[in-house]
Amino acid sequence: MDKKPLINIFWFRRDLRLYDNAGLYRALKESGPVLCLFIFDREILDQLEDKDDARVTFIYQTIQKLAADLEKHGSSLLVRYDKAEEAWKGILKEYAIGTVYTNHDYEPYAKQRDAKIETLLKKHGIVFKTYKDQVIFEKDEVVKDDGLPYTVYTPYMRKWYQKLKSFYLEAYPTEKYLGNLYKHKAAALPSLRSMGFEKSDREFPNPHYEKVIKDYAEKRNYPAIRGTSHIGLHLRFGTVSIRDLARKANEYHEKTWLNELIWREFYMMILDHFPKTMDHAFKPEYDRIKWVNDEKQFKAWCDGQTGYPLVDAGMRELNTTGFMHNRVRMVAASFLSKDLLIDWRWGERYFARKLLDYEMASNVGGWQWAAGSGTDAAPYFRIFNPDSQTKKFDPELAYIKKWVPEYADFSKYPKPIVDHTFARERCLKAFKQALSH
Ligand code: FAD
Repeated sequence: MDKKPLINIFWFRRDLRLYDNAGLYRALKESGPVLCLFIFDREILDQLEDKDDARVTFIYQTIQKLAADLEKHGSSLLVRYDKAEEAWKGILKEYAIGTVYTNHDYEPYAKQRDAKIETLLKKHGIVFKTYKDQVIFEKDEVVKDDGLPYTVYTPYMRKWYQKLKSFYLEAYPTEKYLGNLYKHKAAALPSLRSMGFEKSDREFPNPHYEKVIKDYAEKRNYPAIRGTSHIGLHLRFGTVSIRDLARKANEYHEKTWLNELIWREFYMMILDHFPKTMDHAFKPEYDRIKWVNDEKQFKAWCDGQTGYPLVDAGMRELNTTGFMHNRVRMVAASFLSKDLLIDWRWGERYFARKLLDYEMASNVGGWQWAAGSGTDAAPYFRIFNPDSQTKKFDPELAYIKKWVPEYADFSKYPKPIVDHTFARERCLKAFKQALSH
């Protein structure tokens, strides 16, 4: 029987690019030949409710492109559709493997999965090497002087900038070592349909952010204009490199934008250190709140039919495009958790289903901020008034008119499902009661 050649594997997850990829660079540089792998993980896919989920189409198209790029270098992409552990058991039978390389993922499920895979590989005498790739600083790299994690953004951000001064932001020159890819022809990709999905015809934002970030500080708060980068989807799946973004922001002296990228890392660090916060209040006493949880009102919120035009515009933008402007995310989340007294977790789940840029750490962080239960949250008695937010941030009603055209004719637009003044008082009472124990 032929002896199988010894190879190393690089496992792509949320870092779907060949350039400036930390783990891939190490794999190619340290040891060849390297076979690249992607697993369509059933543990994740089977939980998605929408068979035309646009993110699956985005991943699929990105994987097709990666496979084609690898073929140009005489290699190919090994693709599996299975639960990760099962997929690995199959791969272990087919290939003789020396080392497996991959990049860190900080979500609770991913950490558990990786621990299992590491154990499995170890049993076969295979080393599992993992690297930081999707953030500039991770885990315990930016912590307080006593070694504890920060739970407030501003001091975290200051320390982050301090660390950056002595940090090398250059790209990993993966392209120099692509000759070390395993020369190999893998089987064709499984079709989307065979995995139970349909192609979505959603348009995906392009990853060109340079133009926008130059005027970011001035324009970022107005949902009617394209004042933010729409880079979230690309950051989520790693089709851009965070080092590239941070370097550009630095070059352009775009601190406001860089501060947002630091918010992203702050929330990732929080989720990494406090995984329970994915579905528990960061401040535990907030889990005592007696939510009203009216299902009819929840549906009206989801459908953009609350009678509050800024909230409705946001929800309709989300349902139609998979994006919602940050300012409107804050207003819509505050409205659900405070005006409607609906558990922030319901809203978090809805956003998770719909957002193209869904990122557990930022979504949970954003929702807990709005509900008042999170790190750095607005105090609970600060409740957004959707009308004054409209006056400030959509004064010409351009955003509202785009997404809620019937607003022009009051007879066609729904009446408010709740009166804001009443809702505000009710919220204050409910929160006070829960927090005064
Ligand atoms: P830009 O304004 O151009 O910012 C660039 C990048 O910085 C973003 O893509 C994102 O990666 C990061 N960023 C910006 N603002 C924040 C922030 N407040 N917190 C964390 N990271 C930030 N962001 C997500 O990436 N995924 C989510 O699932 C998500 N859910 C949210 C839910 C709520 C209730 C709220 C209030 C905010 C949420 N955010 C989330 C943060 C923010 O709204 C989005 O990152 C931003 O609107 C994405 O648009 P952009 O790419 O044009 O961002």
